[in-house]
Amino acid sequence: MAWKTSHAPRQLELDSCVTCGLCLPHCPTFRLTGNESASPRGRLAAMAAVASGIAEVDDRFEEIMGFCLQCRACEPVCPSVLPFGRAMEGARAEIAEQQPNRGRKVRALVLGRGLGSRPAIRVATFFAALSQRLQFERLPVRLLARIKGLRRIPFAGGSHIGEARPAATARVGSVGLLAGCVQDAWFGAVNEAALELLTAAGYDVTVPASQTCCGALAAHDGAVAATERLASANVAAFAGYDMVVATAAGCSAHLAGYAEWGPGGDELASRVSDITVVIAEAIADGRLPELPSRDTNVAMQDPCHLRHAQRVIAETRQIVAAAGYEPVEIDDIGMCCGAAGVYMLAQPETSDELGRRKADQVRAVDATLVASANPGCEMQLRSNLARRYEIRHPIEIYATALREHSAAS
Ligand code: SF4
Ligand code: SF4
Repeated sequence: MAWKTSHAPRQLELDSCVTCGLCLPHCPTFRLTGNESASPRGRLAAMAAVASGIAEVDDRFEEIMGFCLQCRACEPVCPSVLPFGRAMEGARAEIAEQQPNRGRKVRALVLGRGLGSRPAIRVATFFAALSQRLQFERLPVRLLARIKGLRRIPFAGGSHIGEARPAATARVGSVGLLAGCVQDAWFGAVNEAALELLTAAGYDVTVPASQTCCGALAAHDGAVAATERLASANVAAFAGYDMVVATAAGCSAHLAGYAEWGPGGDELASRVSDITVVIAEAIADGRLPELPSRDTNVAMQDPCHLRHAQRVIAETRQIVAAAGYEPVEIDDIGMCCGAAGVYMLAQPETSDELGRRKADQVRAVDATLVASANPGCEMQLRSNLARRYEIRHPIEIYATALREHSAAS
């Protein structure tokens, strides 16, 4: 038997590829290398070879799969509607099962236990804040260079976990807000904006105390047991809310795929929305106001897990426009910025090259304010752009404009 886990690439997924090649121009790794094995079609062929017993899950298979960003840019353009991200998570699960090594076990521990542990996040927050103060990003250590992409982190980062705020206007429903692991500790201003806007739009909002990391990074790395354990905890934590909302695109995309990760996951997934969708809807039906024009551009960067995985594009533009800004396009096909979770550490050269290309796209337009709805993309942009560029989540841009407007009127 070529495959050994229930998450393995499914025959239906592999058979769906008609080898048309329409995905190739949209795949960042194919565009960088021109190699078939670095394309969606080539990766599916490698999976099919294992499925049919021609090849094995070996070092070469791991190399082919490991080079994929899991950006899912190949999905929206595929005429077979092939769920490539699901198949790739299955391939990664097989690699973890059949090619165990110490590095992968350590990663499973960090991504499963570490990100799911608030004490561990607090310790990481302290050291990240210390590293910023001591400017460790100047040291010739690749991991430390990533500090440059972070916002200024307080030593004891605040947390919204456990908070509950009632609707500030006519009630339309209840929201369970996923605070996220590093999103809660290091990008707390995004969650604060979400709480303000959701309550202003008529939602009772709770940030359940028993929630944990969504498990996206563990799933991308093939850490099945950790992914299932985190999903199970969140299924229980978010029971009963009308909607489950996440403020990081990577988290909302993973929650939307919870059907794969255990009992109750499909029901939770049916209630999931990214924050940008909920806020854009509230603006469209008049529960949140459209603010006066500022005659200022905002460069729009689409996180892959918003644009490709959830097909959310127009909503971020609607939010930025309602804040009074002019949304400006930087990239017609939404090429990945190269952050891609742990990819920025696992494949640093490719990640850096894609980061440079994304920064070039921003510099080509007349804007120094950049909208990005995912923390990894924000870090990648900040790492590659000069300090005069400000990178904010679209709902932060809107919430800031709304606060200023309220204060002035
Ligand atoms: S677009 Fe879809 S069907 Fe065509 S080669 Fe790519 S994965 Fe296969
Ligand atoms: S997920 Fe992204 S990098 Fe991977 S095959 Fe698809 S387009 Fe290429």
